[in-house]
Amino acid sequence: MMDQIIQHLKKSKHVLLASHTNPDGDAIGSLLALGIALDWLDKKIFLFNESPIPAVYRFLPFIERIEHEIPATLEFDTAVILDCGNIQRIGKGSPAACRIPVILNIDHHITNNNFGTCQLVDTKACSTAEIVYRTIKKMEIPINSAIATSIYTGILTDTGSFRFSNTNKSAFAICEEMIGCGVNPYEVAQHVYGTYSLGRIRLLNLALDSIEISTNGKLSMMTITQEMIYETGTNSEDIDGLINYAKRIEDVKVAALIQEQKTDSNQSTGLKTFHVSLRSDGTFDVSAIASAFGGGGHSSAAGFNIETTLEALKTQIIRLSEKI
Ligand code: 5GP
Ligand code: MN
Repeated sequence: MMDQIIQHLKKSKHVLLASHTNPDGDAIGSLLALGIALDWLDKKIFLFNESPIPAVYRFLPFIERIEHEIPATLEFDTAVILDCGNIQRIGKGSPAACRIPVILNIDHHITNNNFGTCQLVDTKACSTAEIVYRTIKKMEIPINSAIATSIYTGILTDTGSFRFSNTNKSAFAICEEMIGCGVNPYEVAQHVYGTYSLGRIRLLNLALDSIEISTNGKLSMMTITQEMIYETGTNSEDIDGLINYAKRIEDVKVAALIQEQKTDSNQSTGLKTFHVSLRSDGTFDVSAIASAFGGGGHSSAAGFNIETTLEALKTQIIRLSEKI
């Protein structure tokens, strides 16, 4: 699979690279790393992510190259879709991406639906950044400090700083090599984890206060409403990582974070859209639950979107605890 992907990349002239909406460090890091590498090969590249770039990742090199719209006038011969279980995960760019003749699917999600012309899906990889690293090495593209910082940030954040169950030997080996290529680990950590806005800390307070536990103590649920976001002057990027507080509670096996989305509530039905994030301690496959709701992810980290009422959703989630 790797060889086919590389052949396509070598033949390509104008490449669209895209990763999932509400990007995390891996979605941004893998997008930038492969983008910079293809730029070095003198390919014409266009980097796309639908969402605004979270403040903590704005220090990354070439971050200003990421665009949030795909102009209809552009014609691409190749698309590279990164860190997405399905092509719709890139959001409003997906119809344009679907029309591109060659679509390369590079990902590490267990729920990947094998979309595209060619797939490089490795569910054992700690991150998409790990797969991008291997691709760049195989193409014999030199790893400069910009590529190295992007790969390092992808691995650091997707492994929860080498703590999550996807942390593997290559996470450490690649990060060590990236430090040799010019990454300053302290600087990256300061940007990503070291400085939070006051609003983000206040949101943490409200989030902790919202935690509810199932009767058997095995499931925790945290809720973030639009009102909390408004009250603290924060936005969705400030929610990143909050679920880990619910997950680390003693005896909890599955944690759920309900996030009310910004959309106006449906006037006629009174329904709202929510994103639900799920995490497990590794003893329970949450990707199966997420898939049942039309989402996906990994066995210990998954998510889905749903249109319902908050009360109904909470009842549905708490009920999941009966199966744990
Ligand atoms: P989070 O809950 O932090 O948004 O995502 C956890 C994991 O589940 C990530 O790997 C993410 O890519 C995946 N995930 C979250 N929401 C969805 C979704 O709606 N569809 C799919 N296929 N995967 C999702
Ligand atoms: Mn990832």
